[in-house]
Amino acid sequence: MKITSAQFVMSNSDVAKCPKETLPEYAFIGRSNVGKSSLINMLVDRKGLAKTSGRPGKTQLINHFKINDNWFLVDLPGYGYAKVSKAAKKTFQQYITQYFLQRNQLVCGFVLVDIRHEPQKIDLEFMEWLGTNGIPFALIFTKADKLKPAVLESQVNAYLQVLLETAWEEAPPYFVTSSANRMGRETVLEYIDSINKQVTKTP
Ligand code: GDP
Repeated sequence: MKITSAQFVMSNSDVAKCPKETLPEYAFIGRSNVGKSSLINMLVDRKGLAKTSGRPGKTQLINHFKINDNWFLVDLPGYGYAKVSKAAKKTFQQYITQYFLQRNQLVCGFVLVDIRHEPQKIDLEFMEWLGTNGIPFALIFTKADKLKPAVLESQVNAYLQVLLETAWEEAPPYFVTSSANRMGRETVLEYIDSINKQVTKTP
């Protein structure tokens, strides 16, 4: 997919105030510092579109960007836990869960994980939460340039193995990316393009 336009539309913390348009929407989420802003900027080829860590505190909102006038890229805040009861029951920030549960336009969530790290509990729990709620998602491994190819492959396989051994019967779609060398850019964009074509096809 060629990116012809990318524009910031709005930021807010209330899913009810998100754009009314019915364009298909792709949400990017992950722990802070995972490389989300860099990945978004790399995908759409705009250096300063999403804020990077150099400017902290700017990503605690649901940020909508309209791409090519036919889909939305949504930059979500890094997730953390919010305690909801004394029984130490944990949930993710309410506006994030509300976004995923209520936003009908959402066609795919991209969960970002840093490929150098072992699977983190919060990422696994978030993916499980998405699965339990029937929300389609794909996994994006970031910072692939930081590992040698053989190590990279074994890290990816080890991560997928953990998913299969825990909650999942099959691995979700996944992409190996680097914002530093643009690895995975075309593959992710083609994936988005293929979903866009499916959802806009008239029956
Ligand atoms: P965010 O907090 O998830 O939005 O993460 P940022 O995009 O701000 O990136 C966090 C840090 O990781 C910054 O210092 C980036 O330069 C660095 N970084 C992000 N993506 C990559 C990557 O693909 N390769 C390398 N080597 N560094 C990266």
